[in-house]
Amino acid sequence: MSDQPGASSTLIGIPKEAVDGELRVAMTPAALGPLLKGGVRVVIESGAGQAAGFADAAYTDKGAAIGTRDEVFAADVLAAVRAPEGADRERVRAGQVVVSMAAPLADPETAQAFADRGATLFALEMVPRTTRAQAMDVLSSQANVAGYKAVLLAASNLPKMYPLLTTAAGTIAPAKVLIIGAGVAGLSAIATARRLGSVVEAYDVRPAVKEEVQSLGARFVELPLETGQEGSGSGAYAQQLSEETLKKQQELLAKTVAASDVVITTAQVQGKKAPVIVTSEMVAQMAPGSVIVDLAAEQGGNCEPTVAGQTTDVGGVKVIGPVNLPATIPTHASLMYAKNVANFLQLMVADGHVNPEVDDDIVRETMVTRGGQVVHPRVREALGQESLAAPAAPAEPEPADTTEEVAG
Ligand code: NAD
Repeated sequence: MSDQPGASSTLIGIPKEAVDGELRVAMTPAALGPLLKGGVRVVIESGAGQAAGFADAAYTDKGAAIGTRDEVFAADVLAAVRAPEGADRERVRAGQVVVSMAAPLADPETAQAFADRGATLFALEMVPRTTRAQAMDVLSSQANVAGYKAVLLAASNLPKMYPLLTTAAGTIAPAKVLIIGAGVAGLSAIATARRLGSVVEAYDVRPAVKEEVQSLGARFVELPLETGQEGSGSGAYAQQLSEETLKKQQELLAKTVAASDVVITTAQVQGKKAPVIVTSEMVAQMAPGSVIVDLAAEQGGNCEPTVAGQTTDVGGVKVIGPVNLPATIPTHASLMYAKNVANFLQLMVADGHVNPEVDDDIVRETMVTRGGQVVHPRVREALGQESLAAPAAPAEPEPADTTEEVAG
């Protein structure tokens, strides 16, 4: 390890990701600057950035040290893309801070495992979708990449081209692309499909996104559905629809789905199983050769026949259920992820030390474990654990005896 200033300051370790196919890295040379300015030290596992296009020398040029996996895991703070698994998790020790994605609502047992090891786990998926937290929102930055790649995946599986072409050999009609769910991934998919020259339609249960859809050059599909508050939810997230409304939605969308060459589904309700919007019957109505890319595959899928991680042929229609698309564009996905991580860590850095006790709502909302227990209320709920007692209020001073003897 190279000698960095202030050997007593907090050491942040960046491991090489161990999960198969995970080519991203949690820190890039570009994101190091502001972190190091805070006086902390950073050690990167040798080769950690290689697959994403960042050589060891690029990190040392910016002031980080290169170390072994043991040195990285011995650091005070571990910052990773994925929460360490298996033997790596066994190395996590009491008091160590881990900052990574950990899917604590879908997989609360992992959170419990970190609590059992006494570590302080921050799950970056829990960063709230607020204006101040935007620069740390890994779900948004990575969904942006996924939306882009979903369109390319569909294009490479489609036996047609996307744009309108007028040639001496005849006119080629543009492909019709339907995007269901116009959140972060959906809007990125709309923009990409438009850039490639297709005719794009988009649907979302939140009417508020209509203007954004139109500003990207797509037609907003309006359904006569009374979703109102039911769909809108709070902040940038939708709420779950009732079974009845969902059924109505399927019926109303069937024609648009059948007329599309490509359907990209991105509908999600945070922390819930993905709603099934495209049924097997709807897929059967599509022309052979059509393609569906279901970005919600890992959450159960928006499309009934979707199998996560596989392409299923349903009567000549390809139903693709990709997982971890951001890792297929590791350079840019890492650039954004690392910036999110650096911005997040900076909330806690003062005088060369990372202080997880800092009073900040973003830090509070992402903290999943602390002091041997799961502390996040929603994760505790997912584990069937009772909510923790609110921190004891400071003891009230004994009321002073104000009764005065009234002279009789
Ligand atoms: P988001 O919350 O920003 O957007 C989801 C959208 O779905 C919202 O606009 C919401 O209003 C809409 N929606 C919810 N229920 C609906 C319904 N019944 N009908 C129509 N629209 C509905 O989420 P995001 O960040 O864009 O992510 C979208 C999906 O993509 C998630 O499931 C996410 O896990 C997934 N994703 C997959 C990959 C991958 O590699 N496969 C990568 C990143 C994200």
